[in-house]
Amino acid sequence: MMTEYKGVLICGEVSDQKITTVTSELLSTGWMLSDKLGEPLNLILIGQDIRDATQEAIHCGADKVYVADGSPFSESLPETYVNTIADVCKQINPMILLLGQTDMGRDVAPRLAAKLNSSVCLDCIKVDIDPDTGKLLQTKPVYGGNALAIWKSTDCLLQIVTMRPRSSEPAQPDTGRQGEIISVSTTADDSAIRTTLIETVKEELKGISLEDAKVIVSGGGGIGGKEGFELLQDLAQILRGAIGTSRVPCDEGWMPKKLEIGQTGHMVSPSLYIAIGISGAPQHLAGCSGSKCIVAINRDPEAHIFQEADFGIIGNYKEALSSLIEKLKTILQV
Ligand SMILES: Cc1cc2nc3c(=O)[nH]c(=O)nc-3n(C[C@H](O)[C@H](O)[C@H](O)COP(=O)(O)OP(=O)(O)OC[C@H]3O[C@@H](n4cnc5c(N)ncnc54)[C@H](O)[C@@H]3O)c2cc1C
Repeated sequence: MMTEYKGVLICGEVSDQKITTVTSELLSTGWMLSDKLGEPLNLILIGQDIRDATQEAIHCGADKVYVADGSPFSESLPETYVNTIADVCKQINPMILLLGQTDMGRDVAPRLAAKLNSSVCLDCIKVDIDPDTGKLLQTKPVYGGNALAIWKSTDCLLQIVTMRPRSSEPAQPDTGRQGEIISVSTTADDSAIRTTLIETVKEELKGISLEDAKVIVSGGGGIGGKEGFELLQDLAQILRGAIGTSRVPCDEGWMPKKLEIGQTGHMVSPSLYIAIGISGAPQHLAGCSGSKCIVAINRDPEAHIFQEADFGIIGNYKEALSSLIEKLKTILQV
């Protein structure tokens, strides 16, 4: 008898006993897909002491949460993830498996595809159900972010997709929602695990993280040097925002690489993104085009960033920022 593949399974991630933001985003996307397919939404969570996160996941839209909780899952080893997710897939035969385009998702998705003989599409920014065929439409940026391609698997019954963080809004929790929690264990043979986790180092974060910031003040090659970023820091402080940057200041050593926004950096979607001395290259816009409002400051009226910006200031950034900071100090009385 041919196996029937149906419904959506999300592979969630937990940090500090809470589901991560990308998991919440996957839940809102998964909920939309499940609704269109008329199927329940399944989620798998793997880790240690993650019971609280399972309830949170139910509040955020999961109907059934498969939980692999315990000491065998304390280390985030890709082999353990792959074996455990594969076991759940064999049990419920989902048509769609969504993961985040995170370190874990990037590592696990292709291995799972090989193990389960399925298709895999990495780094999607949108998914939807084709109303004609009921197949999954998978949209991802191609050619360095200059075009979008929509993929559709024709012969695979399970379709594995990783979704770029910040490509959808997080799910809104409803504490009244009920769901089912199902414990799972791994059938993995320990001798097959070839990875050892040597150390986990938590990144020290000063101020607000770029992903969580409501306001981002971002500087590019036009800032001209490290010192110029002090003026941007003043603006960020007044607006209680975070500092970001484009590729050029990182390459020049003016700013650390960890603050880079774009295709190879952070994906952000703040309420306000102030792009200062940034040309608006597609690779940069790939990381900030989800911002609610973009304000550009650039001395070149032809700069591409003005085509993406909601508001623009044409001129030297130093003069523009000095006036802006003075004005904001008066308005906000800081
Ligand atoms: C595979 C790949 C991945 C990439 N990934 C990323 C990525 O993730 N993030 C990223 O940012 N880039 C990325 N890049 C690089 C990207 O293509 C651009 O080269 C980069 O974004 C340019 O940075 P910029 O606009 O800040 O600098 P520039 O191109 O140097 O532009 C500077 C801008 O500042 C303006 N300016 C100059 N002086 C002043 C002044 N005094 N006042 C006001 N305006 C001024 C200029 O008019 C110009 O528009 C990637 C490239 C490749 C090939």
